[in-house]
Amino acid sequence: MDLKSLSYEELQNEIATLGEPKFRAGQIFDWAHNKQVDSIEKMSNLSKALREKLKENYEFTSLKCARMQESASDGTKKFLFELSDGNYVESVFMKYHHGNSVCISSQVGCRMGCKFCASTLDGLERNLLPGEMLDQIYRIAAITGEKISNIVVMGTGEPLDNYDNLLKFIHLLNDEHGMNLSQRNITVSTCGIVPKIKALAEEKLQITLALSLHAPTDEKRKALMPIANSYSLNEVMDACRFYFDKTGRRVSFEYALVSGVNDRDEEVSELTRLLKGMNCHINLIPVNPIKEREFKSTDRLRVLEFQKKLEKNGINVTIRREMGRDIDGACGQLRRRVMQG
Ligand code: SAH
Repeated sequence: MDLKSLSYEELQNEIATLGEPKFRAGQIFDWAHNKQVDSIEKMSNLSKALREKLKENYEFTSLKCARMQESASDGTKKFLFELSDGNYVESVFMKYHHGNSVCISSQVGCRMGCKFCASTLDGLERNLLPGEMLDQIYRIAAITGEKISNIVVMGTGEPLDNYDNLLKFIHLLNDEHGMNLSQRNITVSTCGIVPKIKALAEEKLQITLALSLHAPTDEKRKALMPIANSYSLNEVMDACRFYFDKTGRRVSFEYALVSGVNDRDEEVSELTRLLKGMNCHINLIPVNPIKEREFKSTDRLRVLEFQKKLEKNGINVTIRREMGRDIDGACGQLRRRVMQG
């Protein structure tokens, strides 16, 4: 059992079963989630005997930074972390005007199979524990010495395919005894697992949901994303409307532009039909080409043109800043490169 993955209440119960006074749980939680130490040994206000007892009975997740790459152009830093079982995950630190953002992975690998994505090429290895998601943030805060104000779950993995651990992670981030990060500063991105989107809506969290759309019709979406064979766009859009109704949070749609595939005038019209009148916005990002696939990125001029045309049709559009392209910025690229040697 990983101490870092336990909620405040669960930790209190565990400490009680060890026959320790309740306030010890508060101290341990503080070391784990505020002071963010990387070992039980460093919890210096606990007796040596208690630290030994904890080490005997529990794990305490701590990721090792195996590699860090810094972009020469925008200060983006990409991290490769080693987990205790020898697996690797990637995380990214980005500086924005509104604060620093960390993009974390939610799984080791991914089983969703999106055609343009490097993270899924070898399938899913395993889910990450809440503590392993948190520790990507804690280690980056420690290494960079920077304050982190926004978290995006947009790294490797499908967060809604690791639903229970994701929820625990969000509650731990948000816990007043821990980082106390506002739910509004957390974004979760999904390829569109409809029943899980509905379940998440029922949790009534204030997080932002990002939906990976990438195509405006079922047929085109199926060609890029296998999940589209399980859920139609109708069902996905219904789930997004349901999410908005339950939470009041505007859904944001991700759209990776692939040259000649989903960036033509035809798709402008189809997208307009799909999104018109909905309280949402669409985030365009030129696809980051991976060497295992043929996909080419839409050129800058066409991206701007695509944006203008959508805006003229009354759709809110932003173009995602492309950060860290010089450092294997796309999901899964760094991990693959290092693992393949
Ligand atoms: N599985 C989740 C979250 C991880 S992927 C999801 O599908 O949303 C995060 C985002 O990066 C998704 O929108 C995904 O489609 C996109 N993405 C993956 N590979 C990409 C690439 N090569 N270029 C651009 N975007 C990519």
